[in-house]
Amino acid sequence: MSDDAAAILAALRSGGRRITTARRLIAEILAGAGQHLSAADIALSVRDAHPEIHLSTIYRTLESLCAWGFVDQVHQPVGPSFFQLAGTHHHLVCQQCGRIYDVPAAAFDDWIARLRDTYGFELHLGQTALAGRCCDH
Ligand SMILES: [Zn+2]
Ligand SMILES: [Zn+2]
Repeated sequence: MSDDAAAILAALRSGGRRITTARRLIAEILAGAGQHLSAADIALSVRDAHPEIHLSTIYRTLESLCAWGFVDQVHQPVGPSFFQLAGTHHHLVCQQCGRIYDVPAAAFDDWIARLRDTYGFELHLGQTALAGRCCDH
């Protein structure tokens, strides 16, 4: 198991929450994902390993992991939202080709600080992919 997945399971345990098969599997899938996974992608991977787990359990588990702050559901302007371990990076999405770019969170620090100073507004980018056009067009 990866360190990231182990860290989530440890945090669940120390928060007094049970490590269910679905929780463990989803943590492992997201920690090992080389791409951005939709809820349907995640459900498919879980059911590959454990066909007996109900779809509703998988979706509910994803919701819980998001609500507890372990996982971010990232919304795109177009297309299905996707899921990732919380707080790792932000996203730019090209409106022309649909490609999603990962950008380190620090790339937005200046902008976020300026909004905070000017408007007293604390911007949370973790759940939003920002739309634009990539360098391929
Ligand atoms: Zn593009
Ligand atoms: Zn990403």
